[in-house]
Amino acid sequence: MRIKSLSSDLSTYLSLEKVIPAGFNYHLISVFGSQSTGKSTLLNHLFKTEFGVMSEQERRQTTKGIWMSKNKRDTSSPDGKGMAENILVMDVEGTDGRERGEDQDFERKSALFALATSEVLIVNIWEHQVGLYQGANMGLLKTVFEVNLQLFIKDSKTIPRSLLFFVIRDHIGTTPLSNLRNTLLQDLSRIWSTLSKPKGLENSRIEDYFDFAFVALPHKILMPEKFVDEIEKLSTKFREGYKDPKSAGLLDEDTLPVFLPEYHRRIPADGFAVYAAGVWDQIVHNKDLDLPTQQELLAQFRCDEISREALVAFDETITPLEETQAEGVRLGQPRVILGLGEKMNSARATVLRDFETEASRYHKGVFSRKKAELEGKVDVRLKALSQGQFSAAHKTGVAEFTDAVSSAVKAGQKKGSHYDFAQIVESEKKKALEKFESQAQAIAVTGANWSDYKQPLNLYRKELDEVSSRLRKDEMRRLATRVERWVKSRLDESIGLEFNKLGSGRAGSGAPEHGDKPPSEKELWDRIWTVFTETVQEAESRFTERAASFDASPEEVEVGLWRLRRKSWGVLRSKVDEEVMEGNILLKLRENFEDRFRYDEQGVPRIWRPTDDIESVYTKAREHTLRLIPLLSRFKLSRTSAPPPLDAWVGSPPPSVSPADEEDLAPIGGVDEDEGKSLEEEMTILGDTKQQDLIVRFKKTADGVYVEAKRGAIGGIVQ
Ligand code: GDP
Ligand code: MG
Repeated sequence: MRIKSLSSDLSTYLSLEKVIPAGFNYHLISVFGSQSTGKSTLLNHLFKTEFGVMSEQERRQTTKGIWMSKNKRDTSSPDGKGMAENILVMDVEGTDGRERGEDQDFERKSALFALATSEVLIVNIWEHQVGLYQGANMGLLKTVFEVNLQLFIKDSKTIPRSLLFFVIRDHIGTTPLSNLRNTLLQDLSRIWSTLSKPKGLENSRIEDYFDFAFVALPHKILMPEKFVDEIEKLSTKFREGYKDPKSAGLLDEDTLPVFLPEYHRRIPADGFAVYAAGVWDQIVHNKDLDLPTQQELLAQFRCDEISREALVAFDETITPLEETQAEGVRLGQPRVILGLGEKMNSARATVLRDFETEASRYHKGVFSRKKAELEGKVDVRLKALSQGQFSAAHKTGVAEFTDAVSSAVKAGQKKGSHYDFAQIVESEKKKALEKFESQAQAIAVTGANWSDYKQPLNLYRKELDEVSSRLRKDEMRRLATRVERWVKSRLDESIGLEFNKLGSGRAGSGAPEHGDKPPSEKELWDRIWTVFTETVQEAESRFTERAASFDASPEEVEVGLWRLRRKSWGVLRSKVDEEVMEGNILLKLRENFEDRFRYDEQGVPRIWRPTDDIESVYTKAREHTLRLIPLLSRFKLSRTSAPPPLDAWVGSPPPSVSPADEEDLAPIGGVDEDEGKSLEEEMTILGDTKQQDLIVRFKKTADGVYVEAKRGAIGGIVQ
């Protein structure tokens, strides 16, 4: 192909010829020499290429330009000594402008280009040109040397050597090759000595920059078969090799391997097109050709390209994961992605390996900088993924923990057994933390410095603690409810019993029954208060005991007990209200009255006779029962004639009580001062109107009983 637009044509050609992935395993050869000295013919025979050859009839000037072709010979060889792989040959046409008096600009430019890229420069000359020191080809060589000095002066530490391979054409044989070689070497030294060398390089020798090799070929037209034989022999020299350090400068033509590592320009094959384009651009615009800078620019360009290519596979793996995660967040259902760690690890390792494989061949400094850039890019995304995973693991973990604790509690309640709340929380927390940790470990990325999950784990533990304490509060509430229910059922029974005793009118009369001192009606409230406080005390110790089993804090227990006392008071109060409800209390009063009226002191039912003083018994019994009404109306202790010390008993709210703790509490008169209700009012069981009402209705009831008795007495006589 003819190189025109270097970067695109060249890279297309190299990729067609499958040279791009070769790394450093390729070689560049350029050929120089006067017009029509059979250069293209030589290349075509040597490398089976198809460079344009001037037809023997026309002898027309070929166009100026640089052509490139890959070696077409079979490089596989059973003895491993075949031609090197991936030999690229550049045929530089129109180099010799001086013969036709043309400007030497192109010659210089192409020499520069060839030296910047090629390991081997074939110098093609006729035998009869050898020794013609003033000849055209010597001018060309002078240009090559000058250009070489100009090129590699900047980077004198890493001067690449080049091989100048002289191919002497139409060798008749009368002058042995060794003579021709000596003549040429003398000429070259002479040219070198006439060059004006840059400062510091005045004493440099030509051997510092070039190795030389010589070969002679017979006349192609006169000795075509010998020509072909010699070309075949020559082709075997184009293989890889190492130079014996002792033979510096001059190589043994017979065993010569042409491609020595030191000649290689170290431009990776996949960057060659860009490099060549950059070099050519500098040359045609007559800019200072600075190869180290060119190589750095190339490295930047290629490393970026390689990085982008490597990221394609990375994106294919990572982008869907990022999308899954983003969708989860959008839907408010964070997702824990299974196998995320494995995917992240392999994506990261792959992208870095892919990058390194190709990019490490380029300028070391640029390579490491670009590698760090790539790592940064990759890690930003992987870190975000990890954090998304942490937060998903956090959210789902907290929800699972809450569910697990709640359902374990429910199961415990169902069994009715004494489940251990603190232990449930402890074991579920342990499970939750272990799961989180294993999820966190599963997404650790090897080689990344941000994979530490200590902080997310701490956050998680903190939230589990918060949830636990919330759940414990719920559990405290449930416990409180259970204990309150227990208090209620106990009070229902015991307080009911106390009121039932009112039904026995002789209770207060002092008449002995079963030998026990009968309960005094006057001490009704004392007994109720005692029963009440004892019941609540028992409830309190139940509560304290259970609360301790789930690690409730002393403050929480204190608040719980305070609430329990208040609630219990409410329970008692409504039980009392129920007992004094009109129908209930009227029945009790009637029983109380009848018990006195219908039975004598010994508990024997009275049979009324007309002579009996029914009226006075009636009045006595009625008065007794009527005295109960004011007694019932106010909750007060007989010892003090004052209400029980409810305020002191309830106690003031504990300091740690929260508004939520007070939310469902009914106000208690005399305890909650700002309620505007006094303790007296709280202790009022029956208001004045109710008392009056009760008196009237009781009297009517009593009257009824009396009339009935009276009738009974008269009726008895009649019978
Ligand atoms: P280039 O301009 O150097 O590339 O030369 P070409 O390969 O185009 O050949 C120029 C002419 O030289 C053609 O007519 C060839 O046939 C002829 N030619 C090629 N090789 C030889 C050779 O070894 N000896 C002679 N005498 N002529 C040759
Ligand atoms: Mg040619």
